[in-house]
Amino acid sequence: MWMKEFSSLLSCRLTLDTISCQNFSDVNNLDFLRDEIEKGLQIITKEMKELPVDEVMECRQKPDDILIEQLCNCCWKQCPFCAAVCTNTIEDHLPDKHSVPFHRPVIGWHRKDTKDLAIDFCTTSVASDRSFYPSRESKKSIPFKQYQTAGGKYASWSITADGSKLQYWKRFVCRFQKEVEDYHEKKFQGEGGIPSEWRKYSKEEALESLNEISSL
Ligand SMILES: [Zn+2]
Ligand SMILES: [Zn+2]
Repeated sequence: MWMKEFSSLLSCRLTLDTISCQNFSDVNNLDFLRDEIEKGLQIITKEMKELPVDEVMECRQKPDDILIEQLCNCCWKQCPFCAAVCTNTIEDHLPDKHSVPFHRPVIGWHRKDTKDLAIDFCTTSVASDRSFYPSRESKKSIPFKQYQTAGGKYASWSITADGSKLQYWKRFVCRFQKEVEDYHEKKFQGEGGIPSEWRKYSKEEALESLNEISSL
């Protein structure tokens, strides 16, 4: 059982011809098992060391190739509110809605007829009683709770109203407040004032919060 488990963990990287499970089917001496495996691994290590580096590199998929392969065929649609990228790994996955586990603050949106930038995360907005104008030209506002009725890009997204707020984005807003304000020629003020709680996160805590994403 142990040998089977050991080989299965390595099998995607190594072919363990020299260590065969059958050879150990009636082994009851663990020292013998250990010695035999060590012997087998020594042969494999020796063979690998003798391979010319060029040959190894040719067999190996290069990191940039792996990334291109993984990323090119994914969905790259962005949330219409916060621009987070859909994490579906299939390029054309509709009618399954676009989705992402963590949204961002709606950087760039502002309260109509004011210079106040909005600071909400879209996961909070879609649970609120507020409304939004789907585009600059829109005459009619749509309640956030019914955002999909705005049609187009809004209809193709599923945004979970879980109010999740990643510390990373809170720190991002605080750190780049001036740049964002200058770029949009508006201010985080009024209802869009930055909560003091957002300013207390260290860079390390912000980066740590990203682990929540990678552990999903
Ligand atoms: Zn979003
Ligand atoms: Zn998508």
